[in-house]
Amino acid sequence: MSVRHGREVLSIPGPTTVPDEVLQAMQRPAIDIYSGSLVKLTESLMADMSRIFATRGKTYIYAANGHGGWEAAFTNVLSRGDKILVLESGRFAIGWGEMAKMMGVEIEVLAQDQRKAVEPAAVEERLKADKAHAIKAIMVVQIDTASGVVNDIAAVRKAIDRAKHPTLLMVDTVASLGTMPFEMDAWGVDVAMCGSQKGLMTPPGLAFVAANDKAHAAHKSAGLRTMYWDWTFRQGEQHYMKYCGTPPEHLLFGLRKALDLLLAEGLENAFKRHALLAEAVRRAVERWSQGQVLSFNIIDPAKRANSVTNVLVQGRDPQPILDYAREKCGVVLGVGIGDLTGKAFRIAHMGHVNAPMVIGTLGATEMALKALKIPHGSGGVQAAIDYLAEKVEA
Ligand SMILES: *Cc1c(COP(=O)(O)O)cnc(C)c1O
Repeated sequence: MSVRHGREVLSIPGPTTVPDEVLQAMQRPAIDIYSGSLVKLTESLMADMSRIFATRGKTYIYAANGHGGWEAAFTNVLSRGDKILVLESGRFAIGWGEMAKMMGVEIEVLAQDQRKAVEPAAVEERLKADKAHAIKAIMVVQIDTASGVVNDIAAVRKAIDRAKHPTLLMVDTVASLGTMPFEMDAWGVDVAMCGSQKGLMTPPGLAFVAANDKAHAAHKSAGLRTMYWDWTFRQGEQHYMKYCGTPPEHLLFGLRKALDLLLAEGLENAFKRHALLAEAVRRAVERWSQGQVLSFNIIDPAKRANSVTNVLVQGRDPQPILDYAREKCGVVLGVGIGDLTGKAFRIAHMGHVNAPMVIGTLGATEMALKALKIPHGSGGVQAAIDYLAEKVEA
């Protein structure tokens, strides 16, 4: 017996639920790639993405996933033989670094336990030791979906400044943009990248890279430039140059609608919604953890992300929980990845999410714990409801 029929609830950290309005906006014929309306669409999207990154710098839009955005960021500012510093806080910064290595860039990882956030003091210390300024760029992830951590990007910039180091600061915002504040210019971020399929509520397939003046200056002498990713080429007059070929029209139609929804809600309100729903999830997990089997991956409560919660499962395989939620309840939870493979599950709460989706996901998870007789503190869903009822006033 199951109670799964009906709309499936996708609670994985990407791709996330695509709003019906976004799907509908994509349900239309292709248009002339030389049409004025497509040019206007591109202009509006580039401007709004810069607004969302909070930068006066340019945003480039690529037909690519997040990994493509990573490569775009590197090729535009680095040369073979350059050295970069990767700030570990989960699997994603490491993965970004590995990509650079394959491109002939020397990488150094500032190692960090994947249950903690990046330590700005360690960054400062490492940079101070780099007297020759060999480090050309620092890579850091704002929210690492593999560990569930949120890193303090402004604090990383302050550490760089205290060390008086000229390094570029490059930030992955794939799992954070649209879900929490990101202030590219105010925080002194030189290159920021994102993908379409997480907080931005659009199907996978678009990557965004924003660059400030310092990044554009580095671009001039970058040796890894290739035509497809190249910022200079994409600044060309003709519209097709903005995409180095045929624009991914339907994804652009979808993105336009998604950004309209996000901006109509207001970024601040969207951030607040994410904070409330994330805390509701944490209240439930806190309750369940009383059974001594489940626990938070991120030890410091202040460093737990508002877009995803990573739950460790001690002494047993988490897979039956995922299977039960999916097959019996129609809720898809995220598997543990990287260091947490086979040791955790993840509850995503980013993008197009609201109270019933999150409470439903928590309910299905609690049902799984009960049905599988996994020791857990009861009343997790109740704790989530109590929290939301207190914070969301009548
Ligand atoms: C999902 C994710 C990526 C990778 O995006 P893809 O579209 O799968 O290539 C990169 N960084 C972070 C933090 C992510 O969560």
